[in-house]
Amino acid sequence: MAHPDLNIRFHEPLAPRTSFELGGSAEALVEVSAVADLGEVLEWAVDSNRSVRVLGGGTNVVIADEGVAGLVIVPALRGIDIDRSGDGAVVVAAAGETWDDVVAETVSEGLMGLECLSGIPGTVGATPIQNVGAYGVETSDVVEWVEVFDREAGGVTRLSPAECSFGYRTSWFRRHPDRSIVTRVAFMLRATGRPVIRYTELEQVVGVGDPPPDVMVVREAVMALRQGKGMVLETGAPRSAGSFFVNPIVDAQTLAAVEAAAGDENAVPRYPAGEFYFKIPAAWLIEHAGFDRGFRQGAVGVSEHHALALVHHGGGRTQDLLNLAVSIRERVEQRFGIGLRPEPIFWGFASSDPLNGAG
Ligand SMILES: Cc1cc2nc3c(=O)[nH]c(=O)nc-3n(C[C@H](O)[C@H](O)[C@H](O)COP(=O)(O)OP(=O)(O)OC[C@H]3O[C@@H](n4cnc5c(N)ncnc54)[C@H](O)[C@@H]3O)c2cc1C
Repeated sequence: MAHPDLNIRFHEPLAPRTSFELGGSAEALVEVSAVADLGEVLEWAVDSNRSVRVLGGGTNVVIADEGVAGLVIVPALRGIDIDRSGDGAVVVAAAGETWDDVVAETVSEGLMGLECLSGIPGTVGATPIQNVGAYGVETSDVVEWVEVFDREAGGVTRLSPAECSFGYRTSWFRRHPDRSIVTRVAFMLRATGRPVIRYTELEQVVGVGDPPPDVMVVREAVMALRQGKGMVLETGAPRSAGSFFVNPIVDAQTLAAVEAAAGDENAVPRYPAGEFYFKIPAAWLIEHAGFDRGFRQGAVGVSEHHALALVHHGGGRTQDLLNLAVSIRERVEQRFGIGLRPEPIFWGFASSDPLNGAG
């Protein structure tokens, strides 16, 4: 029996807690506002033989129509602390803080490092999970440490960036989803130097001359670029989880095969990814496999702003979304021989990648 103060709710609808606004209910859900309560909540889950999942802002999850068994923990931990020293500051933010509030606060303090990650929805606690990134910057570029409640050890511990084993849209946490609950993240930011501008698109808006653009100007430019691509959550806009597929990273041989399939080697956009690899925009593959921006299949479709975002127009089911995602993945594979990897996390399905076979 859980302590009554924990306020565990049963059959809690999850759709309103996700940006897709799709899917069924959680068997049980609890919002935890103090790290000290996590131990008791987890103990309750073990005693009642329930699996545990952690939900932040729900902007990168796809929930099955049937809902999810077990306990969903929502870390409602709050607090942003900025400790200035020398040329920079260590910013420690609690997992339940809204990510963009942290970016806005640091930028308004004149601190540099997070400006390119402006406008990304969700919570602080989720940023290390898939090593959130945009405009050439990733969480891993600025993380100092990640504090977690280690479910195996039963206590709080801090992980260094090396221990987080960050990769492109992945990390140790994503590979071990049952192990840790992120409670706080520390970021090392700079008060001097230049804002980070690695994307030509951004450079064209803000310039890179002397004096360098103000960090606030960079944030505003990133927000405007994201808005133009439908990559911010806006009231009334179709619901999405941002990019639905990860941009594939391929070797030279695979790139050549894609060029051959496209029939024009210069037509395939690619960006260097390390010495021997190339990143091909998944959006390009999707559009050239026949799914134009604005494509619609009932209640779901492809964003009219960006082919990488699948959208829910309202009144649909998760299965509609999966059917569309499966068709896109199949057609891209048939046309270019590349199997796209989905970016969001799937809950309530038999497999962690329900696009693969089960659809
Ligand atoms: C319009 C839009 C644009 C987007 N643009 C980008 C982008 O530019 N770049 C990018 O990288 N992502 C982007 N995303 C995806 C999403 O915003 C990020 O992945 C974000 O970090 C998810 O945060 P969340 O709190 O909503 O996490 P959720 O969706 O709630 O959870 C995502 C995963 O993180 C885990 N998790 C969440 N909190 C914790 C915690 N405290 N401890 C342990 N595990 C936790 C969950 O269990 C789940 O596995 C976008 C999404 C949308 C809707």
